[in-house]
Amino acid sequence: MVKGWTKSGWRAKPRVQMPDYPDAAALGAVEAQLAKMPPLVFAGEARRLKADLAKAARGEAFLLQGGDCAESFAEFSADNIRDTFKVMLQMAIVLTWGAKVPVVKVGRMAGQFAKPRSAATETIGGVELPSYRGDIINGFDFTADARVPDPFRMLQAYTQAAASLNLLRAFSTGGYADIHRVQSWIAGFTDEDEAARYREVAERIGDAMDFMTAAGVTSDTAHELGKVDFYTSHEALLLEYEEALCRVDSTTGIPVAGSGHMIWIGDRTRQPDGAHVEFCRGVQNPIGLKCGPSTTADDLKVLMAKLNPENEPGRLTLIARFGAGKVGEHLPRLVRAVQAEGANVLWSCDPMHGNTIKAASGYKTRPFESVLREVREFFAVHKAEGTIPGGVHFEMTGRDVTECTGGVRAVSDEDLSSRYHTACDPRLNASQALELAFLVAEELQD
Ligand code: PEP
Ligand code: MN
Repeated sequence: MVKGWTKSGWRAKPRVQMPDYPDAAALGAVEAQLAKMPPLVFAGEARRLKADLAKAARGEAFLLQGGDCAESFAEFSADNIRDTFKVMLQMAIVLTWGAKVPVVKVGRMAGQFAKPRSAATETIGGVELPSYRGDIINGFDFTADARVPDPFRMLQAYTQAAASLNLLRAFSTGGYADIHRVQSWIAGFTDEDEAARYREVAERIGDAMDFMTAAGVTSDTAHELGKVDFYTSHEALLLEYEEALCRVDSTTGIPVAGSGHMIWIGDRTRQPDGAHVEFCRGVQNPIGLKCGPSTTADDLKVLMAKLNPENEPGRLTLIARFGAGKVGEHLPRLVRAVQAEGANVLWSCDPMHGNTIKAASGYKTRPFESVLREVREFFAVHKAEGTIPGGVHFEMTGRDVTECTGGVRAVSDEDLSSRYHTACDPRLNASQALELAFLVAEELQD
């Protein structure tokens, strides 16, 4: 138990990016109801993820974190969850082949509902309204009513997260994740003409599988190969929700965020004396910390001391998100600060949030080449510094959307309008996500 910490202590700290609920009684009623609900995840699972992330920090595993920028109530369906899960499994096999270590799979799922915004209001056609802050807070429709923060949305988010986790747990253990089945999905992708350049790798993965089968993988092992560990994560932005789902771990007596296995602190909410850092420092879950161009070495030292005072391996994942062309300018000073402190951290690369641009058509997009370039720069810095690039963090979906440009099945600026479904940031589609996994696997080979 962190000394002096309580689950409501964040309330006394300066908060940013959180709504002011107009109806305090309604908010209180929702918090009381959520506090009675079962936690969505359990402390033992969070500890297992922490051990897996500790391995990734040592280079004995590799982290793949991915999913929607923001989950939405309207887009919620079993098929969407299945498709994102499926493409993450495909990516994981390709990355395992490249890295020669197990891949730790963490979805931005079952809780990724709240969004930080660059402005508190938005103006369209001369009308100014509060910004949309994610379905757990207010509505996307551009009406004054929809934009009022509504605490009852937290209950719907909880219900959706519970249903999502139920399905993910079933997929993870029920044979859907069978390694041979996943391998045949990858082969399906490389059978397409545009993706032919990845076929050789896919064939080598297939050969490795055939070899294992021929070598007489026992039925016990075969059973294990039909199961995967799949974890959930989200930005811990809406602290009323986080506090209401915070529980005390019956094994260790230490508080745990029951809202997801891993929670992270965003680039806009990482003030060392702010509410978000205060909440996260007291729960035992693995914590992610976004590091952007404005993160100084001194900030990082203070944050590491607050969030991981015992220097526990697997506790802290630093998620670098600088933008293509800027990694060399920013990452080395942070890597050196970590080294100077002797801090145990896992370095992961988010090549999405520094690479958002506005297309000529007006759509927010991300060019595939910029995403790939940032990943390559991230690997290059770690190589030069002698440190470990331990993971990647993508905004992606299993669906065939047109939100990011480029990739083997080239999405152009003109294509963006055809299937642009995101309520927030543009995501890689299934084909772009899998292609990126092949390209990251090449980096991991070097
Ligand atoms: C995000 O991950 O969706 C996000 C808002 O990231 P960041 O805090 O790095 O901008
Ligand atoms: Mn985003």
